[in-house]
Amino acid sequence: MHTYIPPERFFPYLTWPQVKDLQNKSNTLIIQPIGAIEQHGPHLPLVVDAAIATAVVGQALAQLDKSVLAYALPPLCYGKSNEHSRFPGTITLSAQTLIAVLSEMAESLYQAGFRKLVLVNGHGGQPQVLEIVARDLRQRWSDFMVFPLFVWGAPHCAAEVVGAAEYAQGIHAGDVETSVILKLLPDQVDMSQAVREFPVDFPAGSLLSLEGQLPTAWMMDDLSVSGVVGDATVASAAKGDAILASLAAGWAEVFQEIYDFVGLSPQSD
Ligand SMILES: [Zn+2]
Repeated sequence: MHTYIPPERFFPYLTWPQVKDLQNKSNTLIIQPIGAIEQHGPHLPLVVDAAIATAVVGQALAQLDKSVLAYALPPLCYGKSNEHSRFPGTITLSAQTLIAVLSEMAESLYQAGFRKLVLVNGHGGQPQVLEIVARDLRQRWSDFMVFPLFVWGAPHCAAEVVGAAEYAQGIHAGDVETSVILKLLPDQVDMSQAVREFPVDFPAGSLLSLEGQLPTAWMMDDLSVSGVVGDATVASAAKGDAILASLAAGWAEVFQEIYDFVGLSPQSD
């Protein structure tokens, strides 16, 4: 059941007395990988975001110093994926449902004595939902630290590996995700179906953009016929290996820093 998570770091393998008697629970990291079951073009399986978030967490935990107390929860494979809903196979929760699931999961952990919750999300359509959940939890319990994080937010080398343009514009099922899945789940990738597709862009000089400072709300079928935005045709397992290794090392650093973090305080003089 633990898939990519080292078994000794897999929270559901504990018994309730073990959880009850854990030492230093208030500083123990509980890490929730979050993904999506959503279309990733004709060549990749629906599970991409859940697989990447879980594998990165697992590989980072495997290299984390044994003295750092940290456990991973099973991945939350469903997310808010309604921008892909016109592609069959996509399963989406509403924002309200995702907020409720994450909030109630967090409440259970808080009641058990945990005070550091790390959300590691692999799906680009839901960071805002996680941020709302984290802020509301923080307002409710002033001794609860909740980190709403995006898997691509840690230091990594993907932009160097695939090139800056593909990294910026290949936002879905392009070179980056295809390369990583070629490494993680090679039997689930059909490179004979891989395509290169980019949307018609805003005109040169436009202040607007798909994402960034002045974005518009889009559905994936506004951008792409295949469901791909990026160049999946040039992906390789070797690139995926390099990207994954750098991501895992980056996340091991992030987990260490969160473990050492004692909280914020205002300056008084
Ligand atoms: Zn994805």
